[in-house]
Amino acid sequence: MKFAKSKIFETFLDGMSFNNGTKYNIGDAIITTNSDATGNARYHGIENGKHHVNFDIGEYEWTVENIRATFIHELEGHGFNGYTDKLKNHYKAYFKTMDSKYWNRTTPAFKKNTVKSMYDYYFYETKTNTLPPKYYNFYKNNINNKNKWMR
Ligand SMILES: [Zn+2]
Repeated sequence: MKFAKSKIFETFLDGMSFNNGTKYNIGDAIITTNSDATGNARYHGIENGKHHVNFDIGEYEWTVENIRATFIHELEGHGFNGYTDKLKNHYKAYFKTMDSKYWNRTTPAFKKNTVKSMYDYYFYETKTNTLPPKYYNFYKNNINNKNKWMR
């Protein structure tokens, strides 16, 4: 028996909560799993009254927490809050993922991917040189000092 990949992702998302307390149920958004060269997931805006998120995760595992935490970036960050500007506020969508209750149970590969992206966007977008302490601690605790991309 063959299950559509998008149905598997929808099952993982069903019943989850966003940071703002909103619950998610299957069908609340359009979920697709088309191949996408630009990243692990992408927010496609509103179509027929529903937010559309595409998943094409290749850099970390398909666990329930990884998928939910990714969805928080895409839907709560980009969709609800409009953090879509890659020159100004994209880092805030990464903060949303790190603020979520699913963060602690995401995998090391997921944490590394998220913290690295948050770090790069934060410094690029804000032009400051210090992270807020909460996110600095996530960075410090999840990234090996010897990683070559560390500044
Ligand atoms: Zn994003």
